[in-house]
Parts: sequence; C-alpha cells; structure tokens
Amino acid sequence: MNLIFLGAPGAGKGTAANRLSELLDIPHISTGDIFRANISEGTELGKLADQYISQGCLVPDDVTIGMVKARLAEEDCAKGFILDGFPRTIPQAEALDNILAEDGRKIDRAVDIVVSEDKLVERLAYRRVCAACKLSYNLKHSNIGDCCPVCGGSLIMREDDKPKVIAARMAAYHRDTEPLIEYYRNARKLVKVNSEEVVADTFANILAALEIKGV
Ligand code: ADP
Ligand code: ZN
Repeated sequence: MNLIFLGAPGAGKGTAANRLSELLDIPHISTGDIFRANISEGTELGKLADQYISQGCLVPDDVTIGMVKARLAEEDCAKGFILDGFPRTIPQAEALDNILAEDGRKIDRAVDIVVSEDKLVERLAYRRVCAACKLSYNLKHSNIGDCCPVCGGSLIMREDDKPKVIAARMAAYHRDTEPLIEYYRNARKLVKVNSEEVVADTFANILAALEIKGV
C-alpha cells in the first residue's frame, strides 16, 4: 500500500505512521526526520534545510522533491511506503504523482489526520523527543522524567516546537498544505481520521479507515 499521511504539525502523523509501518512492514518516510538527521550530521543538505526549519518555514520544493525521489527509488519502497510530511505543497503533490507514474506506481490513499487547533498547539508545547532513538512523547500524558523509557536517551524539546516558531509552522500549514486536502479529495483518495483523543484511538481509526485488520 502506498500511503500519504496529511495533517497539521502536532496531529500525530509520525507516531501513527511508525506503528502502521511496523504492522504492514513497509518503510515510514518522514521528510522532517530526514532533514533533522542531516542537520545533526552537519551535511550540506542539513545546513541548507536548517535555515528554513529553524524559522518555521518550508524547505524549498526542489530540494525536498529531489530528496524524496531518491528515497522512493530505494528497494524497500517497492512493496509500499508511508509518506509522513510529504507532500506539503501542491507542486510537491504533482511532482510525487509524476515520480510514481514513471515506474507505474501511484498513491492509494491520503489519510488526513484531523485535530482541533487548540489541541495541536498544546501537543507541540508538551512534545519531547528522544535525542537518541527519536521517539516522541507527550509530557502531559506520560509520566516520564528526563530520559527515554525505551532507550534511556535524553528527552529534548525540538527547536521548532518553541512557541515563536509554532505560529509560523501553523501559518505555513494553512497556506501551503491545507489545499492538499482538496487535491486528494478530487483524486478520490482522501480518507479523514479523527486524532482528538489518545494515540491508540487514532491508530484504530486509521486501521478502520484503510480497512486493515488490526492485531
Ligand atoms: P511537523 O509535522 O511536526 O511540523 P516535521 O517533522 O514533519 O514536523 O517537519 C519539520 C520541518 O521540516 C517543517 O516545519 C519544514 O520546515 C520541514 N519540512 C518537512 N517536510 C517538508 C516538506 N515536504 N516540504 C518542505 N519542508 C518540509
Ligand atoms: Zn529513546
């Protein structure tokens, strides 16, 4: 299954995509994670992307599209993939359709993960990420200290989850990314999933919407 996860920052795309990727045994491709890995390794791509990400702006389309094109050409994507955080603009969505069409592939479903704006802002403020294994936690719901319960790494706040950057990310979402909902509705690929409550509910809603049997 070739899937896209849409939804605002903080909607819970990454967490749900991780779980579904394990269940279906297909790769989870997060453009945000790829950029952050490049930033921490200090690559040229990382240096470029950081200038945009630290301001809450989108990385330019040509850079992002080239990066995803290369990732989708890797062998593990042949049996399916979950794109998380891409496409984020209409030109990216059009480019994606073309890239896939070149080798006879297509997107099967675009899953829009829907949460109210208040909740989004709250989730970003409470989000902490493990510096080692990159798992995300919500301080409000999990009674964890400063260390990752899975690997013991230190839990940190993402630079772009700081309040003044959040506003810019939300604005970029409304302006550039929300039009994709219409794009995939017109293509008859859109499914909407409620993510207002806890992670387990969101995941169950996604399985139901995609008609996948759970475990
Ligand atoms: P979130 O979904 O929580 O906003 P991500 O981890 O998906 O966070 O992305 C973090 C940042 O990386 C974005 O705010 C943006 O600057 C950049 N980014 C990620 N994906 C894309 C994309 N498809 N196009 C442009 N910029 C992107
Ligand atoms: Zn960890």
